[in-house]
Amino acid sequence: MLNLSSKIENIKKVGPAYLKKLHRLNIKTIQDLFFHFPHRYNDFSKRVLISQLKQGQIATIQAEISEIKNTRIPYRNLRKKMILTEALVKDKSGTIKIIWFNQPYLIDTLKKGKIANFSGKLTFAKKTLSLSNPVYEMVGIEKDTTHTGRIIPIYPETAGLSSRYLRYLIKPLLPLTDKISDFLPQQIKQEFNLFNLNQAIKQIHFPDNPVSTQKARQRLAFDEFFLIQLSTIKQKQKLAQEKASNISFDQKLIKTFVKNLPFKLTDDQRISTWEILQDINQDKPMNRLLNGDVGSGKTIIAIISALETAKAGFQTALMAPTEILAKQHFETFNQFLKKSNLKIALLTSSEASLNKKTTSALLKKKIANGEIDIIIGTHSLIQKGLSFKNLALTIIDEQHRFGVAQRAALQKRIYQIEDGLPTIPHLLSMTATPIPRTLALTLYGDLDISLIKKMPQGRKKIITKIITPDDRQKTYDFIKNQIKQKKQAFVICPLIDESEKDMMTEVKSVTQEYEKLSKKIFPQLKIAMLHGKLKPKEKENIMKEFQKGKTDILISTSVVEVGVDIPNATVMMIEGADRFGLAQLHQFRGRIGRGKDQSYCFLFTDSLTQKTNQRLKAISISQDGFELAEKDLKIRGAGDFLGTRQWGLPDLIMASLNDINLIKQTRQAASIVLEKNLINQNLEKKLKKFQRNIHLE
Ligand code: ADP
Ligand code: MG
Repeated sequence: MLNLSSKIENIKKVGPAYLKKLHRLNIKTIQDLFFHFPHRYNDFSKRVLISQLKQGQIATIQAEISEIKNTRIPYRNLRKKMILTEALVKDKSGTIKIIWFNQPYLIDTLKKGKIANFSGKLTFAKKTLSLSNPVYEMVGIEKDTTHTGRIIPIYPETAGLSSRYLRYLIKPLLPLTDKISDFLPQQIKQEFNLFNLNQAIKQIHFPDNPVSTQKARQRLAFDEFFLIQLSTIKQKQKLAQEKASNISFDQKLIKTFVKNLPFKLTDDQRISTWEILQDINQDKPMNRLLNGDVGSGKTIIAIISALETAKAGFQTALMAPTEILAKQHFETFNQFLKKSNLKIALLTSSEASLNKKTTSALLKKKIANGEIDIIIGTHSLIQKGLSFKNLALTIIDEQHRFGVAQRAALQKRIYQIEDGLPTIPHLLSMTATPIPRTLALTLYGDLDISLIKKMPQGRKKIITKIITPDDRQKTYDFIKNQIKQKKQAFVICPLIDESEKDMMTEVKSVTQEYEKLSKKIFPQLKIAMLHGKLKPKEKENIMKEFQKGKTDILISTSVVEVGVDIPNATVMMIEGADRFGLAQLHQFRGRIGRGKDQSYCFLFTDSLTQKTNQRLKAISISQDGFELAEKDLKIRGAGDFLGTRQWGLPDLIMASLNDINLIKQTRQAASIVLEKNLINQNLEKKLKKFQRNIHLE
C-alpha cells in the first residue's frame, strides 16, 4: 500500500533511470512528487467533432486511425533528415489529417483501427488543414483522461522528465492527496478565502477548470509567503528578547560633530542617523538595514554611530567585503574622526595597522583588552581567536556581498558578558542595492529599514549611453579626449580569462582587453588592470596609483563594483553590459559622478535582443536605483535579481515576488496566527522544515 511518505521507488512506473532523474529534482517520496508543481497548462478541455474543428483552435477530438505512416523528409538545409509521421483519422462527422515531427515510435502505439483522443491546434501544413503535433491518449475503459480532453499540466522540463511521464505518474496517485494534513489554521483559510491544501494540490496538477488553477496557485503561493513571514516575525520577536548594550544618546556630541562636517547632511541622512541612534539607545539589539543608493552617503552615518558608541565606552566593528574597501573606510574614518581622539584600527588578512604599523598579533591583543575603539576589516573580523572587550555595535557594509552565515557570525560569535548578562551587539547592515518593497517586506521582514532616497545636493546626472559595435571608435575618441582633460576612466570586463570564456557570447577578458586597449586603442595612455586573482598588496598598489591619478584607465572585473571612491574618474565603460543585471550596472555607474565634473557611462554590447535592449534602455534613462531595482525584478525575475539561487527559495515565491497584495495578506495572516496563538503541531513542523530548506537573513 502506498502512502504519502512512500519512497517513489515503490511506484511500479519508476524504474532505475527515472528514479535517478527524480532524485536529481529532490523528489524522494510521493509527497515530494505532489509538491513538484507544473509551471503552465494546456487547455484541451474543449471536445469537438472533426467537422466542428476550426483553424487555429485548440481542442480535443476522439477518432479512429484509418492510416498512419512514417516518411523521411529533408530538414531545412541540413544533411540530417527529419521523420514525419502522417495519419488520417475519422469520426462520425468526418476525416482529418494529423502530422507529428520526429516521433517515429508513435506508429507502434497508434495502429490502424485504434481509437484515441487527440488534443492540439488545427493549423495549415502543406496546404491542408491538419492537427500538428497533437497530444494523444488511447481511449480505454477509464473515462477520466490524463493527457487529453481536459486542462493538462506542463511541468518544467528538467532532468529529462517529460510532462507526459509526470502526468502518467501523478494522476493515479491523486486520491492520496486526501491524506495530506493541512497546516494552515481553519480561521486563516476562511478569512483569506483559501482552498484546503489537498484540494489545492489536486487542482494544481489536474485542475477542473481555469478558476481552480488560479485558486490552487493562490493557496500554494500563500503558504510559501506565509511561512516566510511567520519565520521572520518570529525571528524578530526572538531577537527582541536578547540583550544589548544601551548606548546613551549624547546630543551635544552629535550636534557638534554634525555642525563641523564639511557638508550639510541630507534629510534622509538625518532621519536615518536618528533612527539608528534611537535603536542603539535600547537594551535590545538593533537589527537595521540602511538602504541607500551608491554615493548617497551611508559612510558618514556609520561614522556617527561608531563615534557615539565609542564615546559611550564601547567598541564598534565594521566589516567590508573587500580589502580595498576596508582600507578606504579606515582612511575615511580616520579623516572624519581626526579630532575625536579615538583609536581606530584596520585588520585584514594582509594588513594590521593602527595609524602606524602594528603586527596583527599585537593588534588582536589590543582589541581584546579594549584599547581599540573602532575596528575596521574584512572577513578577518570573524576569524577564530579574535575577541573583543565590549563590542556593542557591528556594521556590515555592502551586506549582500557576504554570505548569510558570515553575517550571522559577526553578530553571534561575539557574545560578551556585561554585568553577568550575555549581550549581543547591535547590528547595522548597509547596502547600496536598492531593495524593492516586496522583497523588503518578505525576505528582510525581520529587519527595520532606514532609507536614503535622495542624493546629496549638487550631484550631476551621469550621462549613460548604449554603445553598439558601430559606435565603438567614436566612443574611444571621446574617452581619449576626457583623459586629455586630466580625467580618468574605468573599464569593466565581465570575465577575467580565456578559460572562463562563455561559448555563446563574445566576452572580453581583462587581459585581452588590456592588450587591446594598451596596444591598439590607447597606446599613449597609462593603463592598469585589476582582477580577483591578484595579491591584495598588488591590488592595493594599483588602486593607489589610480587614486593618485598616476594611471589613466583602470581595467577591472567586478571587484571595483563596491564602494571605491575616485572623484576624478568621469568615465565608466562596461564591456558586455548585457551580461550584468540592472542593479549591478547601476552599482558600476555609481563609481563615477562623484566629483564636480560631468560623468559618462558607456554600456558596450553586441547583443541586441529585445530583452537586452529593454534592460539597457531602462538604465540609460533612469538614475533612480530603487526604480531600477523594481524593474530588474520584473524583467529578470527574482532568481536573477537576487544574484545566484543562494536563497534556496521555492519557485512559487520567486514567481510571486511582485505580488504586493499577497505579501500584505500573508504578513497579516502571520500576525494573526502569532497573536491568537494558532500555531498547531502541523504548522510547527512545517515551519521547521521550511526554515531548514531556505536561508533567511
Ligand atoms: P555610499 O552611500 O555609496 O557609501 P559614501 O558614504 O561613500 O556613499 O558617500 C559618497 C560621497 O559623498 C563621499 O565623498 C561623502 O563624503 C559625500 N557625502 C556624504 N554625504 C554628503 C552630503 N550630505 N553632502 C555632500 N556630500 C556628501
Ligand atoms: Mg559605501
